[in-house]
Amino acid sequence: MNIVFLGPPGVGKGTQARVLAARYNLKPVATGDLIRAEVAAKSPLGIEARKFIEGGNLVPDDLIIRMVEGVMTREDHGGFLLDGFPRTIAQAEGLDQLLKGLGRKVRAVVSLGVSEEKVVNRLGSRRICPVCGRVYNLLHQPPKVEGRCDDHPEAELTQRSDDVPETVRRRLDVYKAQTAPLITYYRQRGLLREVDGDGDVDEVTLRIEAVLNP
Ligand code: AMP
Repeated sequence: MNIVFLGPPGVGKGTQARVLAARYNLKPVATGDLIRAEVAAKSPLGIEARKFIEGGNLVPDDLIIRMVEGVMTREDHGGFLLDGFPRTIAQAEGLDQLLKGLGRKVRAVVSLGVSEEKVVNRLGSRRICPVCGRVYNLLHQPPKVEGRCDDHPEAELTQRSDDVPETVRRRLDVYKAQTAPLITYYRQRGLLREVDGDGDVDEVTLRIEAVLNP
């Protein structure tokens, strides 16, 4: 089964994707994480992508689709859990083509929603462990020791460069203009499952499981 997670930045897609990919034995494909790894490695794709990420804009569709194709065709899995992809109609069409080539299709699209105010607050208080990538929230899921990862206390938690207020605003505008149209795209195909993303992690996981196994 192949599942897509859709929603604005900061809605909790990444957190839920990690939990559910493990539970359903799906391969998580988080394009944001893949691109950040390319940026860190200073690969040609990373060098090209960096200016888009830092400006809060989307990386061009062809680069993203090629990157996802690489991941999907490299390994054989029971299914994929796509987090942060597709983000445009062109990417959704590219995904359909890719899956068709692999003899698969999208089973459901989980659209997570929370208010814009909450999203802005969540992104502003998000911190990441530079060693393991674990995501904390200073307000709702703080580490045991201030500023330190619970599992890697030697590492100081960092803030993503695109989680600063100006870039967050831009990312939300980009979401509304370029990604939100996917809600209609998938609703028309009967694949959309809308889930309230407000609440604690376990509560939201239960809601997602309820729409995936009606
Ligand atoms: P995320 O970690 O999902 O919030 O993604 C961080 C940034 O990576 C986004 O603001 C975009 O610049 C870029 N990005 C991630 N996924 C995509 C995608 N599917 N299409 C275009 N750009 C993307």
